[in-house]
Amino acid sequence: MDRRDFIKKAATLALLAPLAKFEAFAAPATTVPGLVDKQSSLREGPQVARRPYKDTGLTVPLMGMGMMRLPTRGGKADIDYEATEKIIARAMRAGMNYFDTAWFYHDGQSEICAGKILSKYPRDSYYLASKMPCRALRTEADVERIFNEQLRKCKVEYFDFYLMHALNARLWKRSQELHVYEFLKKQQAAGKIRLLGFSFHDSYEVLREIANAKEWDFCQIQLNYLDWKAYHSKEQYEILTRRGIPAIIMEPLKGGRLASIRPEAEAILRKERPNDTPASWAFRFVGSLPNVLLMLSGMTKIEHMEENIKTLSPFEPLTEKERLVMAEAFGKDAVDTVPCTACEYCLPCPASVGIPTVFRIYNRYKSTGDKALFQKEMSELDNGQHGAKSCIACGACLKKCPQKIQIPTWMATIAREQK
Ligand code: SF4
Ligand code: SF4
Repeated sequence: MDRRDFIKKAATLALLAPLAKFEAFAAPATTVPGLVDKQSSLREGPQVARRPYKDTGLTVPLMGMGMMRLPTRGGKADIDYEATEKIIARAMRAGMNYFDTAWFYHDGQSEICAGKILSKYPRDSYYLASKMPCRALRTEADVERIFNEQLRKCKVEYFDFYLMHALNARLWKRSQELHVYEFLKKQQAAGKIRLLGFSFHDSYEVLREIANAKEWDFCQIQLNYLDWKAYHSKEQYEILTRRGIPAIIMEPLKGGRLASIRPEAEAILRKERPNDTPASWAFRFVGSLPNVLLMLSGMTKIEHMEENIKTLSPFEPLTEKERLVMAEAFGKDAVDTVPCTACEYCLPCPASVGIPTVFRIYNRYKSTGDKALFQKEMSELDNGQHGAKSCIACGACLKKCPQKIQIPTWMATIAREQK
């Protein structure tokens, strides 16, 4: 190992030190009416590892199924029910009985899908999470109307986990004006919400302010290997841990980015564990954090579900040596790309630019250097999506992107590089 490598590895170990620091973490007790442990009714074969929720007796699977990226038959709202039903049945057999939907997902169809499919299972065999769409609220009356509509769409009488969706400084202020938290606390007292939290996209200073402002049962943050430092996930995780708020993790693969890495980076991982994929390493990084209650993963194919079940049954935390291997592999892969997580909040674009698709193609080009493939993929966008050249720089997407990506500026850069 030369001096540069040594310094790089030492710095990485320092970066990952907090993984070990919280091993003695124990969240304070909580008592919530109606909070009972739920196990899948269909358990069969290897079971996904579970984590306890404080000392309530409730356990959840270490991974939940995100219903933001379900299989479709083309359009975003055209969910492939047959494929989704198979994936959910497989999840239930493996004990992965946590499902996360939201008002906005699949243009409103995700909650309906959750209701239609999950209502075939006993209500005490699965956890359902949904979210108050804070950016859609115009009046205080909207809060109650939407909440009741969500219960109806999901065909349930209560949500196990309920979140104020995608809070940032602006939406937190707006939600306070509309007394959203107070309304939701009343629903919790009435048994319509078991655990109340929020999902979050902003700076860690804002997270600290919101976490300290109210009592929260959990919080959902973006955390993955690449964002640990770049997106200040480390600081966010530590704020929650100090406050005793269990963390639910979104984007553990950074929108799929960590599942598909450069061949030379993957070779480093395969040398250590030949049968493990880059995605499994990324999940193990997140699951090794003791204050992580659960991580979410969107699984559009049954193969994704099978691979995730394999990673989590049983779950093996990363060893010190594996952390170094991971640093070496993903460090090689951390090139200057657009930090897009493919959440699609920026869509629709008035010029039909397929924003996340364009970023995905561009990111791959930046990590492989294959310009011919980049130009080919950009000229073959499907489903009516247009490329970077079509961006008219209207700025409509800017306010909607939780990652604060300067989308029109990137589109101009990508259009230039396409030549
Ligand atoms: S700035 Fe470009 S990408 Fe963004 S909404 Fe407008 S046209 Fe679409
Ligand atoms: S550009 Fe931003 S809003 Fe659009 S998909 Fe990517 S991360 Fe999401």
